Amino acid sequence: MQFELAKRIKDLPPYLFAGIDKKISEARKKGVDVISLGIGDPDQPTPKFIVKALSDAAKDPRTHQYPSYAGSMEFREAAGEFMARRFGVTMDPNTEIITLIGSKEGIAHFPMAFINPGDLAICCSPGYPVGKTAVNFAGGDVYEAKLTKSSKWLPDLRRIPDDVAAKAKLIYLCYPSNPTGATATQEFFSELVSWAMKTRTIIMTDCAYSEIYYDEAEKPLSIFETPGAKECAIEFHSLSKTFNMTGWRIGWAAGNEQLIAGLGKVKTNVDSGAFNAIQRAGAIALRSDFKSVEKLRRLYKRRRNAAAQGLKSIGAKTSKPKAGFFIWAEVPDGFNDDDVQFADFCIEKAGVVVTPGSGFGEGGRGYFRIALTVDIERMEEAFKRVEKAIAARK
Ligand code: PLP
Repeated sequence: MQFELAKRIKDLPPYLFAGIDKKISEARKKGVDVISLGIGDPDQPTPKFIVKALSDAAKDPRTHQYPSYAGSMEFREAAGEFMARRFGVTMDPNTEIITLIGSKEGIAHFPMAFINPGDLAICCSPGYPVGKTAVNFAGGDVYEAKLTKSSKWLPDLRRIPDDVAAKAKLIYLCYPSNPTGATATQEFFSELVSWAMKTRTIIMTDCAYSEIYYDEAEKPLSIFETPGAKECAIEFHSLSKTFNMTGWRIGWAAGNEQLIAGLGKVKTNVDSGAFNAIQRAGAIALRSDFKSVEKLRRLYKRRRNAAAQGLKSIGAKTSKPKAGFFIWAEVPDGFNDDDVQFADFCIEKAGVVVTPGSGFGEGGRGYFRIALTVDIERMEEAFKRVEKAIAARK
């Protein structure tokens, strides 16, 4: 029997990392020792105290039944306490916080609650692709706000056409950014909140990398530090990167009560909550002293500095990011600004995986992204190989 995929899936370009995985496995089959600077999955283990908390919680039969749809009160309270401590904002765990099975789950489900077929949403290009796909899944259309180096990879709201601003129901943004590593400023968030109130647009901010930063004086912000944000915004948080918990699938959304309730309504119909034992361990992580995160930040900082050196050695212009664990760099000379050609060259001639910028949207053309999730020795080896391959090409 032949099965026809639904249009929403058929029209979708292949998920960026699926294509990269295929190239990696082809190279490995040929015996190449592939070094992947591609996908950003933390290489460090989850801190032991969190693993122990899960192990203890899993032994308690009370965690074995269906969790509550909105998430356990213990986890939501811990998330609220974290937001108060870290950002100085007050979120009511009853109505303004909901547990997610990883922030991706929430980002993917949220547009279903507020986007009707034919509605318009604004997403950034380059940007984390899930926001755009989620809008399309809900039947909505996407206007891509092109980000540029000269605007520090922040959208220029004044350049969004009036008809787009009038029609758009939501805007999705991610800071600290995957892929560019840019962070949002207080001025930008103030401008964004005023714009959203004026144009009656929902703001979705993705804060998955909020705790991976390099300068205590320039910690990433929450949109809720901006007055008025609770009128129009929902923010997505994750334990994945903060505590090396990508496989655990746990995060939360915080924000405007109606927006949280809308997301909750979708979730009651598609999932049955996050495993209670994971929520219990997650609450313990969020209430911890964050020493493990400080240690992690120091590790990424050393890698970031080494990567900046390595990128220089292959002629890729970049600036050190203030947050997140990605470095966004310009394709070196000699590749016609073609990021896909450069990424193919790296894997084929050097056995090194980098992510082509255009995989994050047209605005990423001419750039590539590397992840700081490999150790320094491997990273240095990767840059040496690429440098040698480039030299051999000349
Ligand atoms: N947001 C961004 C920008 C990401 O890069 C990721 C994961 O890579 C996520 C959200 C999803 O994270 P999780 O679902 O693990 O919380």
